[in-house]
Amino acid sequence: MSRIFVFLGPPGSGKGTQAKLLAEKLLVPHISLGDILREEVRSGTEIGKKVKALIEAGKLAPDELTIELAKRRISREDCGSGFIFDGFPRSFAQAEALDQMLEAKGWELEKAIYFKLAEEEVVSRLSARRSCKLCGAVYHLVNNPPKVPGKCDLCGGELYLRHDDEPDVIRTRFEVYEKETLPLVERYQREGKLVTIEASGSIEEVFQRLWAALS
Ligand code: AMP
Repeated sequence: MSRIFVFLGPPGSGKGTQAKLLAEKLLVPHISLGDILREEVRSGTEIGKKVKALIEAGKLAPDELTIELAKRRISREDCGSGFIFDGFPRSFAQAEALDQMLEAKGWELEKAIYFKLAEEEVVSRLSARRSCKLCGAVYHLVNNPPKVPGKCDLCGGELYLRHDDEPDVIRTRFEVYEKETLPLVERYQREGKLVTIEASGSIEEVFQRLWAALS
C-alpha cells in the first residue's frame, strides 16, 4: 500500500519539520515544493527566473508550473511506496490536479494533515526561523537553535533569514494562504480525509500528536 499524505497549514506552522520527521519514520520521501522552487531559483533555470519575484513577494508560483514540478517529482522511482507533499497542493487547481495524478497511477491519498496555528504565532515563529543556504534545513533561534550560531548542524552551510520570512512578506503569505489554501481544508474534510493537528508547542509535542492521530 502506498502511503501518501499532503501537509497543509500556514507558513511557519511547522509542517515542513513534521513532514520530514514523518517521512523518516515511514521511509518515504519528503517533497517540499518550496524547496524545489528555491532550488530552481538558485540554479538560475527558466522556471527559477519565472518564480523568483513571486516567491520573494510571498505570492504563489503559477499553478501550471507547480503542478508540472509535482507530477515530475512523484513519477520518480523513490515514490513507489508513498510520499509526503509539504506545501502542495496550495490552491484548488493544484488539489484537482493532484487527484488526477493519483487516479492515473491507481494511488490513493491516505490523509490530508492540517497544522492549525494562529497568525500571531506564525509571525513570531518565522521571524526567528533561520534556513540553511546550502541544504535548506531549518532552525528556530530559541526553540531549535543550531549548535554553532549561524552554521547548519547538518552541512555547515551558512544560515540566513529567508527574504519571504521578513515581517512585511509574512503578512502577504498569510493572506495568500487564507484565500487560496485554507479552502482546501474544507475540501479534504468533505472527503473524510482531513486530520487536524494543533501546531503550537515543541517539535516533539506536535510530532507525538501527529503520530497518535495516524495510529
Ligand atoms: P514554503 O517553503 O513552502 O514556505 O514555500 C515558499 C514559497 O514558494 C511560497 O511562498 C510560494 O511562493 C512558493 N510555493 C511553494 N509551494 C507552492 C505551491 N504549491 N504553489 C505555488 N507556489 C508555491
